[in-house]
Amino acid sequence: MKYFHPLILICYLLAACVPQQAASTSIPDIPNTPATQTLPARTPTIVNTLPPTEPVQPTPASSPTPAWKIQGPGAVICPILLYHRIGESPTRNEYYVTVENFRAQMQALKDWGYTPIPMSLLLQAMREGAPLPERPVVISFDDGDITVYTEAFPIMQEFGFVGINYLVANRLTADGFMNRQQIHELADAGWEVGSHSYDHSDLTAPEGLDLQFQISESRRLLEEQLGLPVQTFAYPFGRQNEGVLSLARRNYEAAVGLGPLFKQDANNLYYLWRRPVKYEWDVQTFGSFLPWNTAP
Ligand SMILES: [Zn+2]
Repeated sequence: MKYFHPLILICYLLAACVPQQAASTSIPDIPNTPATQTLPARTPTIVNTLPPTEPVQPTPASSPTPAWKIQGPGAVICPILLYHRIGESPTRNEYYVTVENFRAQMQALKDWGYTPIPMSLLLQAMREGAPLPERPVVISFDDGDITVYTEAFPIMQEFGFVGINYLVANRLTADGFMNRQQIHELADAGWEVGSHSYDHSDLTAPEGLDLQFQISESRRLLEEQLGLPVQTFAYPFGRQNEGVLSLARRNYEAAVGLGPLFKQDANNLYYLWRRPVKYEWDVQTFGSFLPWNTAP
């Protein structure tokens, strides 16, 4: 485990999600999760009430090829990128990335030989070993913002890239966020969904939140309303404590937080490192935070 100055970690935690709040309680203590921990098998009752949509053929970039080699079980080098909104921000809000920059970053990932993989495949590799591309990456989006559908999705489709949406359960019908039909369109193209709590509360806040509801019920609601499997959880603002971690372990196969590393392993299965991509980053800066930033 590398040593990171506390200020670096605090910078990450401040960057979690809008709105910003103090990061006093959020230093990610690495959960001491035994590698062999198995969760009770969970077979959600999935009722898909949506009309069928046109199936989209898997695109080559994210499909296994003979060049993919078994990685894991155990540690896997796989950066997980975190985006929120794709578009212009007059205030240079760090939760936005412009369309131009987003496209340049996807192009750079392609040029540098990355293959975006589903989160479920990363977990499978960590737990039992699975064929992975040489330079895997997971592209995640928090909050379910509509610009993921209108801006990021078409660009990623051009590159054959898949992602994962961490959705807030009570926002599926809210203005400015993706609706069920749009989320399904992404799922048909190979994207996955995870839970980002019921209402995006800071789960470490002291004011008596119903953590069970935020963590466990949000999964059930999302699965019921979307008819899609929800395997992983994203802590709002990247914040957790022992009680939150304990519920995440009981209700999910893994959970994602914030952090500067790209080596994912059993020690951080419930706080997988994710790198928030900032508004002001050019491609060179983007590359400087990745394990590989030259052509293979
Ligand atoms: Zn969020």
